Amino acid sequence: MENLMDKLVALCKTRGIIFPGSDIYGGMGNTWDYGPIGVEIKNNIKRAWWKQFVQCAPNTFGVDAAILMNSRVWEASGHVSSFSDPKMDCKVCKSRSRADELIEEFCEKNDLSMDVEGMSNESMQDFINAHQIKCPKCGNFSWTPIRQFNLMFETSRGVTDDNQNKIYLRPETAQGEYVNFLNIQRSMRAKVPFGIAQIGKAFRNEVTPGNFIFRTIEFEQMEHQWFCKEGTDMDYYNEFKQKAFDFLLSLGFKAEHLRFHDHEKLAHYAKCACDIQYLYPMGWSELNGIHNRTNFDLSAHEKFSGKSMSYLDPFTGERYVPYVIEYSIGADRLMLAVLCEAYDEEIVDGETRVVLHLHPSIAPYKVAVLPLQKNLSSKAQEVKDMLSRDFMCVYDDAGSIGKRYRRYDEIGVPYCITIDFDTLEDDTVTIRDRDTMQQIRLKISELKNYLSDKVNL
Ligand code: ATP
Repeated sequence: MENLMDKLVALCKTRGIIFPGSDIYGGMGNTWDYGPIGVEIKNNIKRAWWKQFVQCAPNTFGVDAAILMNSRVWEASGHVSSFSDPKMDCKVCKSRSRADELIEEFCEKNDLSMDVEGMSNESMQDFINAHQIKCPKCGNFSWTPIRQFNLMFETSRGVTDDNQNKIYLRPETAQGEYVNFLNIQRSMRAKVPFGIAQIGKAFRNEVTPGNFIFRTIEFEQMEHQWFCKEGTDMDYYNEFKQKAFDFLLSLGFKAEHLRFHDHEKLAHYAKCACDIQYLYPMGWSELNGIHNRTNFDLSAHEKFSGKSMSYLDPFTGERYVPYVIEYSIGADRLMLAVLCEAYDEEIVDGETRVVLHLHPSIAPYKVAVLPLQKNLSSKAQEVKDMLSRDFMCVYDDAGSIGKRYRRYDEIGVPYCITIDFDTLEDDTVTIRDRDTMQQIRLKISELKNYLSDKVNL
């Protein structure tokens, strides 16, 4: 759909889904605030993920690790020495751009295929010069040389601002799972293979060319780390690829809007890695990653902490440092994909109906309760209060019924319940389906079962 991203940004702002961060101060680049509707959708996405990857998963344990960690963690993980992006500054407008992204966008626009991940800084510089790739902000071609910038946000602990007290906002949640490997294995009597899952904030000092919440400096990751024995790792890697894909299908994604992308250039620790990409309005881009990280992480923490990370197999007596299969997906990046996938415009009775076809399990409200007239409000409130014990519901008596239907279509509410004068006589209501716009009549006593069947994933 043309201008889909602009339409979404506008809808999100006007309908309380997502606002620009620090809005009254003119915003702050790459930060966004979730509004009352957005926080419901995002919480539902996180719940759906947790259900799939913790509640219904074999041998998996959840954690909620601290954002601020001992700095040695980031030395062990390699983030202090090498978590950086190749960036260039525009000498005219002073904005900073990522060299690899400039090249990717240029190739996408010009239908060129290029393995940007595998390019050195020199070859990126040569490419940008050869094709005179201009600053996306001001359109000039006047770059500083490419320099590597570390992506971690630094802060300091205590009152003195010196290097000894330097700490970082975590750039990924994964390390919180690795450093708790021993704690969880012992406290939960976990036997390898087992998983540790976490949903939490991560921070990266990224520059981005926009694209709404696709790439932000503060975001949430949903991560699952599977600890297994070497030799079984590739089977689990393939299993997680499939599970990650199936999860997206269960949220209502069309398979043709998703694809696997195998990494050609691997991080030093990885045996193999792939992304699932989604067809965002700006083109195919990473939605989540699945990595076979070997035993790099646990071995590095063993080295830096001096604590043994080896596992003693109680059945075979073997001792080894487990391999890790990591599956990581950004909750915000998934939220953007969910919104892109759900947004639709239809012509109904000669007018445009904007509708979010969200899967009912992630819809912000499951039900809008709408009295046909104001003097039916006490019955309508009664129905709303009854349903609110089990579902997020909203009550609305303002405007014509048609306008109210449109209001709730726009934020993806799957069911509208109308209270009319018959309701007072026979305790029945009309329930309208957002997608088909069909209406049926149901007894109030049947509503809970009817909705439960539909809104659970
Ligand atoms: P990218 O190549 O897009 O920078 P990445 O490969 O660095 O992503 P990972 O470190 O593997 O990403 O992080 C796992 C997931 O976290 C990504 O697949 C993405 O969904 C999400 N993510 C990473 N960085 C950001 C960000 N700056 N804003 C929002 N989500 C992010």
